[in-house]
Amino acid sequence: MSPEKDRLSGLIHQMAHASDMEPAKISQVTGEVLLMVSNALFRLARENSRFRASDSILLIESSPGKMTRTEANTFLCACFLEYRSGKTEVWDNVIFFIEEILDGNENLWHEIVHHTTEGWNERFFDYNLHPEPKIHTRLYHIATLMVRFYAGDGRQIWTGYEDDPESVYKRLLLLRIPRSTACLIVGTLKDLGYIQGPFDIVGDVVDSRVLGRMVCGDGAGITPMKARRLARMLSPEDPWDIDLPLYMIGSTWCGPGPKCRACPVKHSCVHAISEKLGIRPDPLFRDNLFGKKSYQKTLKQWQIESLCSENNQGFKQKSGF
Ligand code: SF4
Repeated sequence: MSPEKDRLSGLIHQMAHASDMEPAKISQVTGEVLLMVSNALFRLARENSRFRASDSILLIESSPGKMTRTEANTFLCACFLEYRSGKTEVWDNVIFFIEEILDGNENLWHEIVHHTTEGWNERFFDYNLHPEPKIHTRLYHIATLMVRFYAGDGRQIWTGYEDDPESVYKRLLLLRIPRSTACLIVGTLKDLGYIQGPFDIVGDVVDSRVLGRMVCGDGAGITPMKARRLARMLSPEDPWDIDLPLYMIGSTWCGPGPKCRACPVKHSCVHAISEKLGIRPDPLFRDNLFGKKSYQKTLKQWQIESLCSENNQGFKQKSGF
């Protein structure tokens, strides 16, 4: 048995009996689990370049600070079409659309809004950007906002905000795109050297599932917000550092039916080990991480109870019981 697996097995045995543990002990076990998961993700990135190189293949020819308007718009368009979803060859589709259909025109967003909404929707099959009509339609609405707020030049979103990822994120949200897409764009710009500073993980369904299973033993019920909070606990200096390992694990092994036997973090994953042991962590652990109200009440009750018992003891001593 590997030392990590051995240690995590011991922790999971404790996690299964959380109701018998004092809150301080629960926090200590939780802290150890977080450290193990964090170490496993960072080790993966350190030892394997596949887990640390940016998955953005589009802009490798541009040097930092020299992105052209066409490159910026192509990059953003692929992100808006959710290139990470793996549903289609989005990068190739976007490049074909810009180079062949628009003849290399750098005014991508203006070209899109030159259509009427109906006209754009009618070209769904001709343009072949994404297999889902609703994503094709959404691109039109984003294009109108790109023209309105940023004059159709994607670089305006981050120019002047290079040291402020949070502001870039907020400027992206003006386009009414999903938060996970905005996080992906900010993180990819960081990878490419266009902006600096710590930032959140994407926090989509893939991240939520992997983090939930690795830390809590179950990916269900981990919202994007909780996934981002977990990533901040695992990588406080810069949560984005663990985004790619999470994405790679989630898209290769940790799907709806996890392939734990082949997964590189199986010795540091609460789900994988607890399945083997046939025991489940007590939900109190998850509550401890996210500060569930009922658990806060339990904590409060525990404090009141311990205060009452101290008072009782004092009373007993004073009255000579
Ligand atoms: S070991 Fe299994 S549950 Fe854990 S991250 Fe890997 S595939 Fe997912």
